[in-house]
Amino acid sequence: MDLSNSLEEVPVLVESSGLLPFPEFQYSPDNVQGPGCSIDPTEVNVPGCSCQSHSCLPGSCSCLQTYGQAYDTSGKLLNLIRTDSYSSPVFECNALCGCSDACSNRAVQRGLRLKLEVFSTKNKGWGVRTLEMIPNGTFVCEYAGEVISFAEARRRQLAQKSMDHNYIIAVREHAGSGSTTETFVDPAAVGNVGRFINHSCQPNLIMLPVRVHSVVPRLALFAIRNIHVQEELTFDYSGGYHNQTPEALSSSQRDAASQVSGTDGPLRKKCHCGAKNCAQSLPLDLSILS
Ligand SMILES: [Zn+2]
Ligand SMILES: [Zn+2]
Ligand SMILES: [Zn+2]
Ligand SMILES: [Zn+2]
Repeated sequence: MDLSNSLEEVPVLVESSGLLPFPEFQYSPDNVQGPGCSIDPTEVNVPGCSCQSHSCLPGSCSCLQTYGQAYDTSGKLLNLIRTDSYSSPVFECNALCGCSDACSNRAVQRGLRLKLEVFSTKNKGWGVRTLEMIPNGTFVCEYAGEVISFAEARRRQLAQKSMDHNYIIAVREHAGSGSTTETFVDPAAVGNVGRFINHSCQPNLIMLPVRVHSVVPRLALFAIRNIHVQEELTFDYSGGYHNQTPEALSSSQRDAASQVSGTDGPLRKKCHCGAKNCAQSLPLDLSILS
């Protein structure tokens, strides 16, 4: 069975013995425009370079000069260690660039190239594992879904029952002048294999906003170490931002959070990642609620 219905470059397998109920959703390898998102993510609205080369070089390419080099010559992510808590923007060459499709500044746009399998985990519901070895720095897959506005993300999160899965990921990017860009992606109704990847407090993937043809970023997941065959793929749902403990929250945030769970009971779902440094509860993006 191919979960992607041949929409990905390689089939997305599903463990046949999986006993869990399978969620209903529409498979889409790419982001789609959702409520409140004023820009269609499939439109081309980023300029390209005029390189007529096989692969762009930092000395002559306007894309690499403007935005910096994110990948090495084999397309693997550079500078994996980021000391600041902000993610710096990554721009790939796009449809308007003169370089070839093999340009090393094109990774996320090539789509899923790895054999992945959705499987039923012991205590975390569905998860995703790799059926091949993944070298450090490799692009694995996107976290694709409906791109929605802050207001819509808030509305959806407040409408959630405590038993529901929260899939909405909020990515905040800080531009030089102190301005902030926020992107909200919800893969619950429309999404790709990324929606099945579990959280871990000690993940093997990192999420980075990557722009290709559109100013709307794609939420791309890259390996941050070599990942072995049959290993489960995980990323930090808080996106590298601090996983706040309830004690650290203001009282208004606590009120908002309890509004979501609808009870006075535990605000947060328990984390079952098993890491030594486990924060014990899943991250909850409270900025949506405040
Ligand atoms: Zn290029
Ligand atoms: Zn170029
Ligand atoms: Zn370019
Ligand atoms: Zn954990």
